[in-house]
Amino acid sequence: MTVWVLGDQLTTRVGPLADADGDERVLMIEARAFARRLPYHPQKLTLVFSAMRHFRDELRERGYEVEYRRAETFGDALADHFDDHPGDVLALMRPASHGAGERLRELVDEAGGDVDLLENDLFLLSPDEFDDWAGDRDRLRHGDFYRFVRRSTGYLMDGDDPVGGQWNYDEQNRETPPPNHEFPDPPSFEPDEQTRAVAAWADETFETWGDPEGFSWPVTRADAHRALDDFVERRLAEFGPYQDAMVADSWAGNHALLSPALNLGLLHPREVVERVVDAYDAGDAPLNSVEGVVRQVVGWREFVRHVYRRRMPAMSSANLLDATRDLPPLYYTGETDMRCLATVVDRVRDRGYSHHIERLMVLSNFALLYGADPHELDRWFHFAYVDAYHWVTTPNVVGMGSFATDALSTKPYAASANYVDRMSDFCDDCRYDPDETTGDDACPFNALYWDFLAENEDRLRDDYRMGLSYHNLDRKDDLDAVRERAVDVRDRAAEEEL
Ligand SMILES: Cc1cc2nc3c(=O)[nH]c(=O)nc-3n(C[C@H](O)[C@H](O)[C@H](O)COP(=O)(O)OP(=O)(O)OC[C@H]3O[C@@H](n4cnc5c(N)ncnc54)[C@H](O)[C@@H]3O)c2cc1C
Ligand code: SF4
Repeated sequence: MTVWVLGDQLTTRVGPLADADGDERVLMIEARAFARRLPYHPQKLTLVFSAMRHFRDELRERGYEVEYRRAETFGDALADHFDDHPGDVLALMRPASHGAGERLRELVDEAGGDVDLLENDLFLLSPDEFDDWAGDRDRLRHGDFYRFVRRSTGYLMDGDDPVGGQWNYDEQNRETPPPNHEFPDPPSFEPDEQTRAVAAWADETFETWGDPEGFSWPVTRADAHRALDDFVERRLAEFGPYQDAMVADSWAGNHALLSPALNLGLLHPREVVERVVDAYDAGDAPLNSVEGVVRQVVGWREFVRHVYRRRMPAMSSANLLDATRDLPPLYYTGETDMRCLATVVDRVRDRGYSHHIERLMVLSNFALLYGADPHELDRWFHFAYVDAYHWVTTPNVVGMGSFATDALSTKPYAASANYVDRMSDFCDDCRYDPDETTGDDACPFNALYWDFLAENEDRLRDDYRMGLSYHNLDRKDDLDAVRERAVDVRDRAAEEEL
């Protein structure tokens, strides 16, 4: 038997390696074809391949026999493996992305071998546990799920009640920092020789999008732990209040910056949550910040994973609002006078990361209002972000960001410039005016927002949560001019003149 470790399953704490004696054979495959599927961010390729090679070395140091096969495809590497070990059986944790387990099983079959697909232990909840909770509910709501997980795990619970008396403290978590506020510097992980070698190889071997310089993500479990320590000790306390803030001078704010390590398996979600809950118990961080992190990690992360699992493959072609326009070129070039979009696209180009509100309320919001094809946006997120994997990117982009399916939210996250102006300092320094809707200097978000509501009226008006938006739309006496401006904005965006 051989334990097959995929590139996003880099752990010995759960899964087949947790039960191993240390003398099992381990197979790891570095497949180049995988990296050619999209023009991935070079830092994403560096992150995954360098983390794999470091994990290989750590396993070898611990006495494992690791066969690390570099090949064009998984199929090629598997053929070599079964040539060398006829009749071998592979033990593999089922990948979280839809259909991947079955595809790998077919490849193993073709190579003449056999594979045992085991439960994926990289999450808190198993599919059965989630499905038991879901039962025959018509609609799966995050709020209900979150209460269930809090109760079943006991995190931040006082008997059957939430600690502090409330399940969530979002009303305390929408602050913007005062003008001279200084955010703590994010931790830095200087690339070692191995990471530098991988970066150089990735850069010369693959078509990529994004800046190869400045890589500073954790690639080992020790560094991932350092990232967790840094978050808890230096940024957690103010994570809550500034969670939704967007700031021109700080790309990281107080965010955890842990998704790259979590999604590779270098950290388990349980470790992250228990660490932040311990900080609360020790009096080192306030409840609104700690609950905020707990909700993201045990709530949203698990919820999107399981809703995705249950809604695939339909989710990968869903298009509830029939949005089919090409994604504007500015997503690829960053060339635009819209300060919010230019800043966020630059951030993504620089390090393959921007925080949640920038993903949702700037990048996705603009694409949603513009009417961009949600699947082109999904593709863009997939290659541009270092933490992107199908199981997490697709539900977030197609569901939460584009409202191409109502599986994750009952209404779209659509907003005018008002939101960006309130939650960021981007508008202060922008050529466009967030308070204007028509005219050349008017913020493009505004006309697009009203036009979006008008265009999707049949689908959205009856939702009671959209009532106020439609009430305001009905009161607009310049709707024709607004919609003309929206056409102009779209034309300009398509021509790279926005
Ligand atoms: C359009 C869009 C695309 C996204 N694409 C991805 C993606 O490709 N990969 C990814 O991991 N997350 C994605 N997210 C979710 C979220 O934005 C990132 O997990 C988060 O920004 C990662 O940064 P952080 O570690 O600093 O997180 P923090 O904001 O500090 O949050 C802490 C942790 O909570 C978890 N989390 C929070 N929200 C979500 C969520 N909605 N889904 C899953 N996990 C969540 C993450 O593991 C994160 O590390 C996306 C969200 C949107 C709106
Ligand atoms: S004015 Fe509009 S385009 Fe400019 S930063 Fe504000 S929201 Fe973005």
